[in-house]
Amino acid sequence: MDTSSFADRDGFIWFNGKLVPWRDANIHVLTHGLHYASSVFEGERVYEGEIFKLTEHTDRLINSARILGFKIEQSAEEINQASRETVIANNIVDGYVRPVAWRGSEMMGVSAQNNKINLAIAAWVWPSYFSPEARMKGIRLKLSPWKRPSPETIPTQSKAAGLYMICTLSKHEAEQEGFDDAVMLDYRGRVAEATGANIFFVKDGALHTPTPDCFLDGITRRTVIDLAKARGIEVIERVIMPDEMGSFTECFLTGTAAEVTPVSSIDTYQFAPGLICQQLIGDYESCVRRKVAA
Ligand code: PMP
Repeated sequence: MDTSSFADRDGFIWFNGKLVPWRDANIHVLTHGLHYASSVFEGERVYEGEIFKLTEHTDRLINSARILGFKIEQSAEEINQASRETVIANNIVDGYVRPVAWRGSEMMGVSAQNNKINLAIAAWVWPSYFSPEARMKGIRLKLSPWKRPSPETIPTQSKAAGLYMICTLSKHEAEQEGFDDAVMLDYRGRVAEATGANIFFVKDGALHTPTPDCFLDGITRRTVIDLAKARGIEVIERVIMPDEMGSFTECFLTGTAAEVTPVSSIDTYQFAPGLICQQLIGDYESCVRRKVAA
């Protein structure tokens, strides 16, 4: 495992309008985004030099900020252009892009009405989220004690930093117990998602996936639903309770980072990554590498 810091690398980061050397992309400790989580971000993948679904990610970034009550200064087209420039400046063929927008340092308290809205875009070479061996045998998940909150508690449709606090707690606990990741139920006790990916199950040849009413309706999730439908696979978005998990044969996660990752177990529930996982991994790979229409 690479233990070097993300703060100490060669390359360039796009920072408030221009590319700066990687190590110079710094902020002050008195930054509202750091203290009060007034920060939104995206995670994008680069395949063969192109950012997959860039427009959708940029639009979600702008919308995430709007939901938190702040406006990113740059237009969607300017952000798209800056993202492409960052990929080119860092010579990335297959990698990851991380745009982040946050409130600055002008006011330091809960209220930050007049703070500058900052935007940075970093990109780095990055292979698969989970190792290829782990992907083939399926990953092991643990049910988290943390619940995805109600949309009345926190703005759940924003990809906001604050929503990830319980994801990190869940993932750390799972990793410490030897699992790969955690599955979170929602505030009603329904199956929701993993800590950075959506979840699907297979029963009798059909896909079953939770309705995204209190968590991100992932861009990968929507892509995989379209790919499944194009194959004639039925897709059912519905309420899924945890005690139903014993009736499913396959299970997989979807996300920009996770792509399509088969799951072999969630606590004591066992799944056998099979034909549908295999087909959708292949379809997704063809789609991101533009061998079929997205
Ligand atoms: N849920 C969470 C909590 C995530 O962090 C992500 C990754 N952005 C997803 C779902 C999947 O979203 P996407 O497919 O748009 O990457």
